[in-house]
Amino acid sequence: MARRRQLYEGKAKILFEGPEPGTLVQYFKDDATAFNAQKKGTITGKGVLNNRISEFLMTKLAEINIPTHFIRRLNMREQLIKEVEIIPIEVVVRNIAAGSIAQRLGIPEGTRLPRSIVEYYYKNDALGDPMVAEEHITAFGWATPPDMDDIVHLTLRINDFLTGLFLGVGITLVDFKLEFGRLYENEEMRIVLADEISPDNCRLWDAKTNEKMDKDRFRRDLGKIEEAYQEVARRLGILPEAGSRDMKGPETMQ
Ligand code: UDP
Repeated sequence: MARRRQLYEGKAKILFEGPEPGTLVQYFKDDATAFNAQKKGTITGKGVLNNRISEFLMTKLAEINIPTHFIRRLNMREQLIKEVEIIPIEVVVRNIAAGSIAQRLGIPEGTRLPRSIVEYYYKNDALGDPMVAEEHITAFGWATPPDMDDIVHLTLRINDFLTGLFLGVGITLVDFKLEFGRLYENEEMRIVLADEISPDNCRLWDAKTNEKMDKDRFRRDLGKIEEAYQEVARRLGILPEAGSRDMKGPETMQ
């Protein structure tokens, strides 16, 4: 089969032209970066696991009527997605203080926040993704006020749903990052969830031990990175245990 035309290469994924107009193929690499790409590495098998985990979470979200760009997984490393116009904002939701909010505001890591907090960062590598307010987003036209209403509404629903889903398998959803895009269909525009949801862009802690099961293991050189991603997939019931094709359902934890 002729290789598809590459449209974009990011830090962890590559986008190829899709088989039909309006579709793209999203390829998951094993490359990992942190601290605005100052730290680089490879996590063997990460792409395969993130492809699976993101497929699982996007499918679950679609079941509760969250519109997403995901169509279907094609193979171990690729998924078919709808082509959207990416809104250049990273939407971060925090339930527990960790990472940059802990540092910036001097809150001890692990402190439960009084309520879930939504923050926005302008997607711009050269500027190091600066934090911005809704004022900047609407004033500079990165998104309109109605777009932002949809984004906040979807983000809070996604947070509620994923918090429960992860808690059911013994994982605390500490924080995560989402990206949204504009999907043009039948003369209409809809805001849909895009990018990926995986341990690369979530903080996931074991609910009992608070052990980190996400990219912080890479950022902070904690080792056992692939094992942690695998354990997330295993608990979600999406890792075929003995190489079999059997897919268990999510495993309930006390
Ligand atoms: N995050 C991300 N991409 C980024 C920045 C953050 O996926 O470019 C995720 C990160 O994995 C974490 C959450 O967003 O789950 C909050 O990250 P934070 O602001 O604490 O920044 P970091 O500690 O990654 O510098």
